[in-house]
Amino acid sequence: MRHGPGMTLELIARCDQRVPRYTSYPTAPHFKPDITAETYAAWLAELAPDQPVSLYLHVPFCAELCLYCGCNTAVTRSYKAVAAYVDCLEREIELVTKHLPGRMDVSHIHWGGGTPTIVSPEDLERISSRLGSAFAIRPDAEIAVEIDPRTITLAHVEALAASGLNRASLGVQDFDPRVQETIKRIQSFEQTAQVAGWLRQAGVKGLNLDLMYGLPFQTSGSVIRSVDLALRLGPDRIALFGYAHVPWMKRHQALLPEEALPGAVARVEQREAASAAILEAGYVQIGIDHFAKPDDPMALRQKDGRLHRNFQGYTTDEATALIGFGTSAIGSLPQGYVQNAPTTVAYREAVMSGRLPVIRGAALTDDDRLRRGIIERLMCDFEVELDEIAREFGSSPTAFASEIEAVDALARDGLVTRDGLTIAVPEESRALVRNVCAVFDRYLESGAQRHSRAL
Ligand code: SF4
Repeated sequence: MRHGPGMTLELIARCDQRVPRYTSYPTAPHFKPDITAETYAAWLAELAPDQPVSLYLHVPFCAELCLYCGCNTAVTRSYKAVAAYVDCLEREIELVTKHLPGRMDVSHIHWGGGTPTIVSPEDLERISSRLGSAFAIRPDAEIAVEIDPRTITLAHVEALAASGLNRASLGVQDFDPRVQETIKRIQSFEQTAQVAGWLRQAGVKGLNLDLMYGLPFQTSGSVIRSVDLALRLGPDRIALFGYAHVPWMKRHQALLPEEALPGAVARVEQREAASAAILEAGYVQIGIDHFAKPDDPMALRQKDGRLHRNFQGYTTDEATALIGFGTSAIGSLPQGYVQNAPTTVAYREAVMSGRLPVIRGAALTDDDRLRRGIIERLMCDFEVELDEIAREFGSSPTAFASEIEAVDALARDGLVTRDGLTIAVPEESRALVRNVCAVFDRYLESGAQRHSRAL
């Protein structure tokens, strides 16, 4: 295995602490209710009218519950609830645009869930056309959707393609029948290949596949077999996530057989085996958990040091404002973060009575912005120049004396290197970069919530 000199089993066990995924800073458990609908309205009004924004639409429904699921979703068997939700989304789009300084350009749209394609083809087109009148969607905008190959139909693909879809993420996780049976997600390779074919035929060029390790009964061998099958579909990007077992937050996960969950060392081995197989096939690694073909825009951004990280993970999106729509959706504005009501009942109640559904968030301080910049560069580039970034944010690296001490302690374990004010995470320790980021997280000590494992 490629643990490298620093990655001894003892170190893996010690670093296997719960650390955030750092898709934002401060992270969501630190959002506070003093950020209200009024704050959000003011922040929207202050957006620079000549700058593009990104949009995220959350659909919190699924046909069935996968037992590993960590998303905000609910099972619904009738379309009534989904149809009512579509009305809410339209209403929220109307409410948000009322506060914006004009008809703003859009550079990215991302549909996530849940299962966005639980929305009927007609309703998907309806929302897309509502977005098209509320915003000026740039001709080169990336329009992406998360797809569950088990339930999507050809009519969905055609409706999405007609609305400009140009990137699709197919959820796979694992093709092994025993693993699929255990996690309650039965999805054949043929079914997945058929949907990939539909998308390509409809002209959707970008194809991402999501795979997972650390699930019950997974072994390095089974993970490699799933990777090999996934590679046959020729995806442009692959996301490889470690299963996060947090049954105290996601109660259905308690139904998984805990004794069949791979331990910390087995997880590292699975991740490394899968990564090696993907790299062997000619992909380049992006950050901690993505892979892309070398000529993919994500790979090119990483090369130029212009890769970013947002709530969807790694992104090429450079917009400074991300507007979230739907239950629990998080928005990221230059002034700070906002989060919508976490339940669909509360969300619906707010939008249908004409209120922006924001219930909490975080206003960014200068210190937050600087620390967020450090964490983002570490997560994206595995390296940060403290003096350069401090200067960029009008600060001084002397403010980080205690963090530098903590970095040096990690350096003694081989997790990180420090050359003056340049902090770098060596290749063999990259899976533990979140532990290095945690050094710069001023909120971590006071975190009320537990996070998922680092590995
Ligand atoms: S389809 Fe996705 S969001 Fe829905 S239950 Fe399964 S993992 Fe969760």
